[in-house]
Amino acid sequence: MAKKTPWHSIKSNVYHDDTDCNTGNNIERENLRSGTGGKPKCAECKSLNG
Ligand SMILES: [Zn+2]
Repeated sequence: MAKKTPWHSIKSNVYHDDTDCNTGNNIERENLRSGTGGKPKCAECKSLNG
C-alpha cells in the first residue's frame, strides 16, 4: 500500500495519507505541513485506502 504519514495543505480543509492521491501530491511546498491539522481525510485518499 502507498499509505504514509498524514500531511495537509494550509490552504485546504482536508488531510492526505496516500502517496497516490493527486490532490495530495499537488500541494505546493510552501503550503505543505505534516500531520492531519485536525482536518477530515480527503475523499480521494479514502477511496484509495478503501
Ligand atoms: Zn488525498
